[in-house]
Amino acid sequence: MTERFSRRDFLATSSLAAAIVGAAPTVLVGSGASQEGKPAVLGGTPVARLSYSSWPVLQGEEEESLLNVLRTGRWFRSPTGSQVPQFEDEYATMCGAKFCIATSSGTASLVSALAALDIGPGDEVITTPYTFIATINSIIGHFALPMLVDVDIDSFQVDGKLADAACNGNTRCLLPVHIGGNPANMDDFLAIGKKREIPVIEDACQAHIGQWRGKKLGSVGDAGCFSFQVTKNLPSGEGGAILTSNEVLADRIYRSHNNCIGRRSGPNDYSNGLVRGLNHRMTEFQGAVLRAQIKHIEKYQAMRNENGLYLNKLLAEIPGVYPAKVYDGAENAWHLYMYRINPAEFGMSRDLFFRALRAENIPGGGGYGHGDWIEFVRRSYDTPAGRRVYPKAVLDQWAERVGALPHHHNLSINAIWMTQPVLVGPKTNMDIIADGIRRIQKNAAEIARM
Ligand SMILES: *Cc1c(COP(=O)(O)O)cnc(C)c1O
Repeated sequence: MTERFSRRDFLATSSLAAAIVGAAPTVLVGSGASQEGKPAVLGGTPVARLSYSSWPVLQGEEEESLLNVLRTGRWFRSPTGSQVPQFEDEYATMCGAKFCIATSSGTASLVSALAALDIGPGDEVITTPYTFIATINSIIGHFALPMLVDVDIDSFQVDGKLADAACNGNTRCLLPVHIGGNPANMDDFLAIGKKREIPVIEDACQAHIGQWRGKKLGSVGDAGCFSFQVTKNLPSGEGGAILTSNEVLADRIYRSHNNCIGRRSGPNDYSNGLVRGLNHRMTEFQGAVLRAQIKHIEKYQAMRNENGLYLNKLLAEIPGVYPAKVYDGAENAWHLYMYRINPAEFGMSRDLFFRALRAENIPGGGGYGHGDWIEFVRRSYDTPAGRRVYPKAVLDQWAERVGALPHHHNLSINAIWMTQPVLVGPKTNMDIIADGIRRIQKNAAEIARM
């Protein structure tokens, strides 16, 4: 007689889950099937037996730290809070920045940084179309225009050469995104910023402790914004932070995240200028979780970096497969493992490839789809206030300048992502993934005839 899954079973398995504190997410187990064998989609044995990932990983100290915060009654970061200010110090030190301002989310960190720069209606912010919607929303939230620049098809990152050409007299900020954790070409962005005297803000929401020429991402430009949302490499459920080494900017960002109120001053002290501010503060609960998690991020980054680079090498040998290139002098933070296929060279469409991957139990998703940002921005400003700031002719001209973004389109139909827990585990998992993809490609003609 088959028993239904009882509540007692549920409790038993969930306490088992709680017991594997500090364990790395198990993503794949090889089935022993040979890469020479028949692909699973054609009836062969899948190369992997198991495909799941668990994130976040509980490190063990979170429970006690959270209880301490609860019991002391200090739930608020300031003036008596201790977790958030200590986390800010720890994260700034880890990243080599002078100042860190923790926020309630990554979106809040972007909104606060742009507010500190007085970004407003009519201003243009240079960024990439290949990003999470929050990047675009942080610009629209200030009634500014995202000036979308196509990506470098090799790295999947915003193309610095095109960014320079996209600047005009209304450009007020450069907002490169290190998408997937892979560094954007910061040499290009720093040079444009310097030449045109425009601040560079890094959207490093996926790029914790990645590096550009020895500097941690987020500390390379004038400021860098981070997310600690639960899927990110340093998680606290929700949360964010801004790094900067510019004291005046740090003060303005603090105010913009704290209803205009500075660290050491009342609401009416405008000595560094008045900043539009809202409440984007982090709670002590988030700070407590982050202080436990931050102790382990370097260990995970080392593992992801070794596995990511190894997998890049393996996949680059397969016809029609192109892992996102890491620029010389850069270290990828590997929030995502990103690659693309050229369907003609690979021998099948991405849809068919997904089917074959699933049959092998190898993870892979399509990432950001072909979001039509031009339509999104048009609709966002299709309100009485929006039409006042951006009459149709202005948006038409902007849309024409943005243009067709062919590389972005290519990625939106041909990129494949694996989420970062796939890289947290033994190196043999990378061999399993590569074996599966290799045998799918070798048998592409037969699979395409299915
Ligand atoms: C996650 C993310 C954000 C927003 O962070 P939240 O914490 O979810 O608000 C912004 N930009 C990028 C690139 C992100 O990945």
